[in-house]
Amino acid sequence: MSLSIVADGAKPSPSGIKVIVVGAGFGGLTAAIECVRQGHSVSIYESFPELKSLGDIISFGSNAGRIFNRVCGRNPIDPAWNKQPLRKYLNVFPTIPQSRVYELARVSSFSHLLHPGIPSRRFKCDKLTSLPPIKWSDGKVAAAMRAVSIDLRQYGFKIHKYDTGEVVAHQKNHDQDPLAPTFNGHRGELHGIVFNHAKELGIPIHLGRKAVRYFENEKEAGIELDNGEIVTADMVVGSDGVRSIARTLVLGYEDKPKSSGYAVYRAWFSNKDMIADPRTADFCNNGDTFNGWIGPDVHFLFSTIKNGSDCCWVLTHRDDHDIDESWSFPGKLEDVYKVLEGWDPMCRAIVEKTPSVVDWKLVYRDPLPTWVSKQGRIALLGDAAHPFLPTSAQGATQAVEDGVTLAITLKRAGKANVPAAVRTYQEIRYDRVKAVQKTGETTRDMWHKTDWDKVKKDPKSIQFPREDWILKLDAERHAEEVFEETFQKCLTSGKQNGTVAPAAL
Ligand SMILES: Cc1cc2nc3c(=O)[nH]c(=O)nc-3n(C[C@H](O)[C@H](O)[C@H](O)COP(=O)(O)OP(=O)(O)OC[C@H]3O[C@@H](n4cnc5c(N)ncnc54)[C@H](O)[C@@H]3O)c2cc1C
Repeated sequence: MSLSIVADGAKPSPSGIKVIVVGAGFGGLTAAIECVRQGHSVSIYESFPELKSLGDIISFGSNAGRIFNRVCGRNPIDPAWNKQPLRKYLNVFPTIPQSRVYELARVSSFSHLLHPGIPSRRFKCDKLTSLPPIKWSDGKVAAAMRAVSIDLRQYGFKIHKYDTGEVVAHQKNHDQDPLAPTFNGHRGELHGIVFNHAKELGIPIHLGRKAVRYFENEKEAGIELDNGEIVTADMVVGSDGVRSIARTLVLGYEDKPKSSGYAVYRAWFSNKDMIADPRTADFCNNGDTFNGWIGPDVHFLFSTIKNGSDCCWVLTHRDDHDIDESWSFPGKLEDVYKVLEGWDPMCRAIVEKTPSVVDWKLVYRDPLPTWVSKQGRIALLGDAAHPFLPTSAQGATQAVEDGVTLAITLKRAGKANVPAAVRTYQEIRYDRVKAVQKTGETTRDMWHKTDWDKVKKDPKSIQFPREDWILKLDAERHAEEVFEETFQKCLTSGKQNGTVAPAAL
């Protein structure tokens, strides 16, 4: 059977399927963009009244980069690019060194970014909505994301013993795969690029519109907004994050989160005080860096980004407080210092430069019995279906893979089979997501219970795992390949009530 992967610039035939997406995080935005690519008509409802540059470091593996960098077999190096337009691009991202910009040209058809009309002004996160339009399909989105992401090809990842500070392992970074780059950068900046792309595609994004109720019947699904307005479509995507309301409807009860027993202090700041201190200046004067200190039940990760101009750290530690399921509370530096007592003084030297800190409680949730509502017209996606621990570095990436998969199952099943399409999406995604979620625990435990004698003999045993089965998947191709068989199973195997058979859990 031939695959029907949508080529660059190709106009898909309209499917006639109407989709409502709730939540404009990475999961919802990708689902909406991919729905447009596959010919569905889509609108987004987001409770935030405006786009804000919120959050700090976020990771996308090459399995997400492949999606953002969609080139569909086209040579990613555009022979038309030359030095003149690249210099123009520097005006938009002035903190990026020229050498990095030339490198970017190698990983995407870069010159497309540089059409006339790019304003020569400083790049600011809070001005993201007015950045020039960026296209997903020929690598422009990926190029813009790489431009604000960490570049560790020179430096790699240095892993230190927490107390002595000695480097016990030096993990080299692979060269970027031009077709599937990785991105580690500021969530707000990366989010703004994807958000702008969705806007450029003409997707209606209704900001300041909170969904307060979800409903469905055999023929349609819909939401009620906080102003009382009712909107309906063929299906609703509940990509409304960890505190999902859609989840309550899908499960028929409120699924209370559990504490994972851990929390993360996290911070993002400029390098000004770091370069003024001779102990820490080296982290910022020679390009991007990434260092980790690993100790008993605690790890501290520190990166410098955008040629060392921005700094960020995360400190994961035990936390047994009652949790409210939120990603962000103000934290206190004194509490951070307490966790770091007895640690390499370099850690405190870094933390001292931090103007403010966020205290992020890590929530845990057993895998949900289902992501799909009874009538099959409401699907959970991203964090609403499966929150991840940061040590998997895959939370946002798996949300992106979800969106690609759902758009394809809808296209392949057609308007007459929306509920079966939605169940096929779950069937394709469920076991993979569960297995990737588990890696967050295994990496954390590997670091937090380190056997230092073993590390001495085998430094690789403490490296961050980079596994091909996670990173090399092409979610679009995979969904196309397994669709027919999975769809037939969903049509015939008695899973019509939207629940996964216990054996699959
Ligand atoms: C503000 C914010 C900051 C974050 N910062 C970081 C970070 O620094 N590092 C990191 O690794 N991860 C961060 N995350 C989480 C990370 O973005 C997600 O884990 C991941 O990208 C999966 O995305 P998602 O789209 O499933 O969920 P989310 O990114 O959580 O997006 C859910 C969206 O749904 C919207 N929403 C919720 N309820 C409703 C409703 N009833 N009606 C309409 N809209 C609704 C929310 O406002 C949000 O925009 C952050 C998430 C948010 C929302």
